[in-house]
Amino acid sequence: MGALKNHVANEKDAYNPVSRLTMKRETIPRREEEGKRDLSAVKAAAKAGPSKTPPALDGVREELGDCTRCPLHRTRKNLVFGEGSAKARLVFVGEAPGEEEDNQGRPFVGRAGQLLTKIIDAMGLKREDVYICNILKCRPPANRNPKEDEIATCEPFLLKQLEAINPEIICALGTFAAKTLLRTDAPISSIRGKFHDYHGRKLMPTYHPAYLLRNPDAKKLVWDDVQKIMKIL
Ligand code: URA
Repeated sequence: MGALKNHVANEKDAYNPVSRLTMKRETIPRREEEGKRDLSAVKAAAKAGPSKTPPALDGVREELGDCTRCPLHRTRKNLVFGEGSAKARLVFVGEAPGEEEDNQGRPFVGRAGQLLTKIIDAMGLKREDVYICNILKCRPPANRNPKEDEIATCEPFLLKQLEAINPEIICALGTFAAKTLLRTDAPISSIRGKFHDYHGRKLMPTYHPAYLLRNPDAKKLVWDDVQKIMKIL
C-alpha cells in the first residue's frame, strides 16, 4: 500500500511544473510521448553513472580557444564562455560580461547576477540546473553596447553552444539580447512575455536583472514571464 501511495505521488510529481523543473531530464515523461518512450537509453545512462560534460560543448569551448577573433580580446581579463548544465532544458542568454564577470571569468556573478540567481531559485531550480551565457564572451570596455562586428563574430559560438546543449527554451535577458537574437527593433516591452522562434527553439524575452535593480516594479512582469517557461518545462 505504501509503495502504491509513493508510486501515485511520484506520478503526480511528474506533472507538477515545479517538480518537473527539478527532476532529472531523463526521468521526466513528456506529456505527448507518455507511454511510447524507449527507455533503453535512460537505463544505459543510469548504469553508466553520472555523465561527463558531453564532448560537444567541450568541443565548442576548445574551438573558441583563447579567442582573438575581435578586438575585445585586447581589453578583456577573462573570456566568459558560460556555465551550468551541459544538458540544461533552459538556457539564459544575457548581453555581455560586466566587470565582475570579466574578473571571475563567470557569467552573471555581479549584482544583476545575484538577482538572476534568485529568479532561478524562485523557479525551483539551481544555477547548476540551467545554463547561463551571453551573446558576447568578452567584456566591452566600460560596458559599452556590443558592436555589430563583435556580435557577428561571437554569435556563431552561442549557436554552437545551444546546439550542443539542445535546450527546450532560451530566455533572453534584456533589450539587447532579445533584439539581437530576434533581429528586431521592437521594444522589449512589446516582445517580452511571448515565445518567439530562435533557430527552431522557443525563446522568451524578458527584462534584464540589471533593469529590475533599477525598476523593482518590473519584477512582477519577469515572474509572469518565467512562469510561462515553467509551464512548458
Ligand atoms: N549582464 C549581462 O548581460 N551578462 C552578464 O554576464 C552580466 C551582466
